[in-house]
Amino acid sequence: MKSRAFSKWIPWVGLITVTLGSHADAWGEEGHQIVGAIAMTRLTPQTRAAIIELLGNDDLAKAGLWADQIRGDSKYDWAKPLHYVNAPRNENSIVLERDCAKGECVVGAITRFLAVATDSTKPIEERREALKFAIHFIGDLHQPLHAGYADDMGGNRIQVIAFGDKKTNLHALWDTVLIYRKSQGDWRGLAKALETDMPAKEVAQWEGNLDPLAWGNESRAITRVIYNELPADAKVGEQYYESNFPTVARRLAAGGVRLAAALNKTFAAYKPAVKNDDRAVSPVRPSTDSPAEKPAQKAAPVSVP
Ligand SMILES: [Zn+2]
Repeated sequence: MKSRAFSKWIPWVGLITVTLGSHADAWGEEGHQIVGAIAMTRLTPQTRAAIIELLGNDDLAKAGLWADQIRGDSKYDWAKPLHYVNAPRNENSIVLERDCAKGECVVGAITRFLAVATDSTKPIEERREALKFAIHFIGDLHQPLHAGYADDMGGNRIQVIAFGDKKTNLHALWDTVLIYRKSQGDWRGLAKALETDMPAKEVAQWEGNLDPLAWGNESRAITRVIYNELPADAKVGEQYYESNFPTVARRLAAGGVRLAAALNKTFAAYKPAVKNDDRAVSPVRPSTDSPAEKPAQKAAPVSVP
């Protein structure tokens, strides 16, 4: 892998990553992977089995990336407003009737998709996608600027110069730049460090509050501080990083703990589907298709909200 041909590509890979990062409006890849990796260590065996049944594996770090990977696919344009929740600038809190009408925001989406993931009347593909959306959106809602202001697109329109010469924007600064400053690309190492450092008291508080609206309001409160503390010249350096990284770390850790807790709660009463193998040994199994299999074959198409 260390051939000359490969190393020539490295600058391009870096460029593509930076370009994508500056347009993304979610925790960047590292953020979602860290949230997923922390959550994976906290799943009950029952939840793990249910997730493996739906996704084919229990890799929450990878599953959390899917909802950003489909952004270029117009088939999923309906999901774009579900990554965030905006509220007016003069408001301290999110009001669902005003800011999340018909559940069309990240707060409403989390509740809805977790319910679909366990709904055995839904087609398996719809449930699989719902689970991947829920995993991603729980991460998103812990990025403070996902509970921001509509007029600057959650800070995407606020230009920032980071560490002397890096042109970015306020949203991307919190999505990726501050995380990468710490991880230097080793997101697994950072996830492990965050997991080790989590104070038990805070973990208990995070687990004790599984209401997505509360998570959004926590983010909202942090967002207000972020705007108040952004230097007038929009130049941020080591001092900004030092004073703000602890908040980034806490939100990533809280996102991971809550992702696991929400999934454990969601799948607590879940009954795994009857395996094909189990039916194969049934002495009454007819030689042709059993009637029980027909509804699945004639399942309604995935409904798109
Ligand atoms: Zn997102």
